[in-house]
Amino acid sequence: MTISENKDLLHLNTFGISARAQHFAPIHDLPELKELILQEHPTETSLLVLGGGSNVLFTKDFDGWVLHNGIKGIEIIEDNAETVLLRAGGGENWSNFVDFAVENGWWGLENLSLIPGTVGAAPVQNIGAYGTEQKERFISLEACNLKTGEVRTFVKDDCAFGYRSSIFKTEEKGNWFVVNVTYHLQKKPHRILNYAPLKAAFENTPLSKLSASEISNKVKEIRNSKLPDPRKIGNAGSFFKNPVISKSQFQQLENQYPNIPSYPQDDGTLKVPAGWLIEQCGWKGKKVGNTGVHNLQALVLVNHGNATGTEIQQLALQIQSDVHNRFNIHIEPEVLIL
Ligand SMILES: Cc1cc2nc3c(=O)[nH]c(=O)nc-3n(C[C@H](O)[C@H](O)[C@H](O)COP(=O)(O)OP(=O)(O)OC[C@H]3O[C@@H](n4cnc5c(N)ncnc54)[C@H](O)[C@@H]3O)c2cc1C
Repeated sequence: MTISENKDLLHLNTFGISARAQHFAPIHDLPELKELILQEHPTETSLLVLGGGSNVLFTKDFDGWVLHNGIKGIEIIEDNAETVLLRAGGGENWSNFVDFAVENGWWGLENLSLIPGTVGAAPVQNIGAYGTEQKERFISLEACNLKTGEVRTFVKDDCAFGYRSSIFKTEEKGNWFVVNVTYHLQKKPHRILNYAPLKAAFENTPLSKLSASEISNKVKEIRNSKLPDPRKIGNAGSFFKNPVISKSQFQQLENQYPNIPSYPQDDGTLKVPAGWLIEQCGWKGKKVGNTGVHNLQALVLVNHGNATGTEIQQLALQIQSDVHNRFNIHIEPEVLIL
């Protein structure tokens, strides 16, 4: 393992922000990780486990350890007539992992095609898109305790998966390095087409004939048509989470804004698209210096080139404040601001 000092993270975050890590260690396997934990005691300073850097915003240099997950490998753990258990190293690219499953004709992850980042971050964030979340296919993960080097298996019930959340972002925040993740896939078709744009795209196709690969390709096509490619324009996908509000607050807003969209939740609350709220405040497509709001998706803040993390953070604060003043709703960042 080669530890670097004062490492520039410019090419290791999708916002394309230049920030330096005091200590930087690329991790290729579990023994290397354990050795580092026991020799360097990285939790004694600040510590960040970094995957693809597609959900972080650096506003300053990182004083402490950045452990970059490069643990690779995809293994078939079980394969029978109906199902496959697939285990992937935490440093595998998520999108490539989904492609591997889809190319083999295994169902379950195709709606999550093309989400940037690593397999290890997927359960941490409980990534989701197009009507599903990774938790639906999650079986277990192995994680290494960043203080002791102990390796523990977490099954689904241990992970407290929620909307873009898990125990690794709450109670166990900063304690674990996800080494590998196991997913359960199906050989029989299991089509999830409840997300309106996906349903509409297949309006004239006999659904019983649709393959996982056709769904995956359509998801990629829709994503490419409305989300900026971080290789061309720096961004971290949705900057804010969709807020969840009470029924009474929603009714008050609906009186004022009859077109306000909403998604009813099981507990009677309603999820309101943050992108709609931001757009109503006039932010969609706006440019502020080197930063801005994407012209096709108001939830995506972008680096138009040479922006600093602080400039993007300032833009986010301004948007939060405008949404709060107009709707009395607090929108919380999904992106980890460092
Ligand atoms: C263009 C674009 C589109 C996106 N679309 C979606 C979408 O549709 N749905 C969605 O849910 N997200 C989306 N995202 C957000 C992002 O892809 C996910 O959050 C992804 O899981 C982040 O993975 P990463 O490896 O880049 O994590 P990083 O950004 O490196 O890290 C994110 C967080 O996870 C922690 N972490 C990362 N790896 C590990 C590990 N091995 N062990 C412990 N903690 C870890 C980090 O410490 C940090 O807290 C999008 C982002 C972009 C840029």
